[in-house]
Amino acid sequence: MTSTPDAASTDAASAARRLLIVGPPGAGKGTQAVRIAEELSIPAISTGDIFRANVSGRTELGVLAKSYMDKGEYVPDSVTNDMVRSRLAQEDARDGFLLDGYPRTLDQVEALDAVLEELGTSLDLVLLLVVEPEEVIGRLVARGAELGRSDDTEETIRHRLDVYAEQTAPLIDVYQRRGLVRRVDGMAAIDEVTASLREALAAR
Ligand code: AMP
Repeated sequence: MTSTPDAASTDAASAARRLLIVGPPGAGKGTQAVRIAEELSIPAISTGDIFRANVSGRTELGVLAKSYMDKGEYVPDSVTNDMVRSRLAQEDARDGFLLDGYPRTLDQVEALDAVLEELGTSLDLVLLLVVEPEEVIGRLVARGAELGRSDDTEETIRHRLDVYAEQTAPLIDVYQRRGLVRRVDGMAAIDEVTASLREALAAR
């Protein structure tokens, strides 16, 4: 196939650029989100990172978020939804975004649908990283020691996995019914996972 500038721009226009990456804590979402977003020239938007930046900056939002994060609980939907709504309204997210760690509840799914509808757009794909829970615990304990994350202690990790199974895993069915989910083995080496994500995006 010859690649003319026109064909290239058509490809770029039709490529999946409004994306979610989902999976349990420790699945490698953050690492992969940054790589994929960079390749697609879209922002990787991690609600966890935004909360952590607010915790470090000791903002009002940070103080509130920390009280939930340290227990492995979700920050209330109203707070999280408002934060994402204003982030998605920023200029750099106009032509695409990769949301990492949002939505995490059914209420957040509805809020995201509403925001995207207001913006006149919709999701293209949901990338699901599939991992073994026990493997994830080992990874997170190691990360907690390395980065000093206060929510990466074994007890909090187990609670976060329970909260994920209870509140977030059901979202996969919702997106599955919409035909948006692409499953990728998250247990492989980092570069292999990135390659599989790339393939999933290309095969849309
Ligand atoms: P993460 O870095 O995505 O694992 O998020 C770390 C913590 O931030 C979570 O355990 C929650 O306390 C909070 N958080 C991040 N994203 C959300 C969200 N979408 N809804 C509620 N809380 C969130």
